[in-house]
Amino acid sequence: MSGKLKNKVAVVTGGNSGIGFATAKLFANEGAKVAVTGRDQATIATSVAQIGNNAIGFVADVANINSIAPVYEKVSSTFGKIDILVVNAGIVYLSPIADVTEEMFDQVSDINYKGVFFTVQKALPYLNDGASIVITSSTVANKGIAGGSVYLSTKAAERALVRAFAAELVGRNIRVNALSPGSVGTPIFKKAGFAQEQEDAMNQFFATATPMKRAGSVDEMAKGFLFLASDDSSYMTGGDLLLDGGFRDL
Ligand code: NAD
Repeated sequence: MSGKLKNKVAVVTGGNSGIGFATAKLFANEGAKVAVTGRDQATIATSVAQIGNNAIGFVADVANINSIAPVYEKVSSTFGKIDILVVNAGIVYLSPIADVTEEMFDQVSDINYKGVFFTVQKALPYLNDGASIVITSSTVANKGIAGGSVYLSTKAAERALVRAFAAELVGRNIRVNALSPGSVGTPIFKKAGFAQEQEDAMNQFFATATPMKRAGSVDEMAKGFLFLASDDSSYMTGGDLLLDGGFRDL
């Protein structure tokens, strides 16, 4: 590895699974001291062991504002100030408009929208000069997909946050960008309670709408996060890196 993140401190929310885990592992391979957060202690412990380079992990629910700040405090006291924040924790939810309950609307918004805002807000006192924040949005954020009204709008909100955060934090020499994956094979649908046939239908839908005719891998996403987290993207802020196999407008 090239040591692109040598002496950097990185926090990856949702770093105990899927895209976040692959990203945390690549960051550690590139020399970063990495802290991962998630909701499940057991997978956090396994992930930390696999990430290596003295990685640390914390249980923190991004939907609970009070659980976020203590994580940054512990990371800073262990590794020093934070250089890279990957705001990646998220859930998927698909439902016809008529069946969306207020409870599900709130749950998805609390994690994918409100949680993202406060994950960044609470990090501000702990971020180094020159820090990079990357938020995981989605290529579907500006598409129309039946059943996606709640999920898609939270992913679009993340893009809006990226632009507003970037404009405001440029004065502190902090860059903020989005990475927008297309379809990537992770446990996200299973965790959302999708039956196998629903998941197969989603995969089929994405395969048809993706000119490259395949899903992306978590490692392909991790390389994008590395670009946005490192000085390789030093002239990029408020932007959106689409890694979606050319997913077409619907
Ligand atoms: P995943 O389920 O493997 O990972 C999601 C992570 O978020 C898990 O580690 C989970 O613990 C964490 N998380 C969820 N709710 C949380 C909460 N309240 N507090 C703390 N952590 C929480 O799924 P993934 O596919 O790796 O998803 C990562 C991100 O990528 C999500 O934001 C998702 O919307 C986005 N995304 C995924 C795809 C895809 O096809 N997999 C496509 C586009 C965007």
